[in-house]
Amino acid sequence: MKHTRVTIKQNKVNLYKINQCPLIEKEHMQSIPSLKEGTLIELATPQGEFIGTGYYGVQNKGIGWVLTQKQGELIDDTFFTKKIRTAIDKRRTFFDMVGTNVFRLFNGEGDGIGGLTIDYYDGILVITWYSEGIYSFRDSIISALEQPIPILDGIKGIYQKKRFNDKGQFVEESSFLKSEQAPEPLIVEENAVKYAVYLDDGAMTGIFLDQKDVRGRIKNHYAKDMTVLNTFSYTGAFSIAAAIGGAKSTTSVDLAKRSLSKTREQFLLNDIDLEGQDIVVMDVFDYFKWAIKKEKLYDIAILDPPAFAKSKKMIFTVRKDYTWLVENAIELTTENGLIIASTNSASLDMKHFKRQVSQAFMNKHCTYEIVETYTLPEDFVTAETFVRGNYLKVLFIRKLDR
Ligand code: SAH
Repeated sequence: MKHTRVTIKQNKVNLYKINQCPLIEKEHMQSIPSLKEGTLIELATPQGEFIGTGYYGVQNKGIGWVLTQKQGELIDDTFFTKKIRTAIDKRRTFFDMVGTNVFRLFNGEGDGIGGLTIDYYDGILVITWYSEGIYSFRDSIISALEQPIPILDGIKGIYQKKRFNDKGQFVEESSFLKSEQAPEPLIVEENAVKYAVYLDDGAMTGIFLDQKDVRGRIKNHYAKDMTVLNTFSYTGAFSIAAAIGGAKSTTSVDLAKRSLSKTREQFLLNDIDLEGQDIVVMDVFDYFKWAIKKEKLYDIAILDPPAFAKSKKMIFTVRKDYTWLVENAIELTTENGLIIASTNSASLDMKHFKRQVSQAFMNKHCTYEIVETYTLPEDFVTAETFVRGNYLKVLFIRKLDR
């Protein structure tokens, strides 16, 4: 395939050449010729020296990804096969783990191909394409997955999700691609907890695999005999983990109507009595107001909002509103209670996230201790050269004296 040469601004050369940043940003280029999605681009210094080869694919961040810094390395079927095999090799132990049969098999730039993720759901693969550019390589990538790879021998089917702009429209399309279709729902297991997932239902499946370690920790270490408030609860995954871990009660709060049936489904699947499991369809902001007025107190409060959310009441952004969220959690937790504060916002780094938490405790004249910190789990391999790729930040915060 023909490469198009793109020149990097002098003051950004080291970012790509030495620091090996995999994300290609428009502002770092001297000028961008008009390119077709999926075009292979050769990054060069203003002096014409080779830096790397990547592809053009517009995402919400960046305009493409570097694939190799080896001059002359071809981006062909062999290249994609090699990357995918290496990723699978790294995760050998995940295939026969007891109690967990879901995990991330390929994690974008962490495994050498930005814009592409592949998840493993008990023998079924779910590919997510984050740009039209990476989607243009689909034949090579799918055929790489179909090569005889002993550990993938039992693959039952492949689904795909497109999450990119197509002709100016953002598509979040899901479709079944190959072999056998999964039952609806498909019942998977993680940390010996069952979850019902729907692989062909929009961008999300019902479980966010990146919170595996956090759910495991809550279940095995913190939940026993506790009352738990789970805000932005979605399908209630944290609540289920807590209930199985012996929580006295759980309260799940989410604005979306679907969360009621989806959460109930997960509890029933795990034979958990719905008595003691409250599922509230409500704007978190209203719930806070109501619960504070009623002087409700919980031993554990979980905060896991989306990076951005719009409701009738307000536009929530992690950057602007996390402090406020923690302030409410401080009001609603018992003495020595635990606040689990999580964000998946790549644009808020750990330092700023901690600052928001610290500000909230200061405003509430309360002391605290961060007892545990989590980032992405082991199967979500990240590139050392790209800190932003490790977007998940979770703090387990022990509330101390007021
Ligand atoms: N914590 C969940 C994932 C959260 S996804 C988990 O671990 O699985 C984000 C969720 O926030 C969505 O289900 C969405 O419906 C919900 N949400 C967004 N804005 C909200 C609001 N203002 N009040 C309550 N829920 C909200």
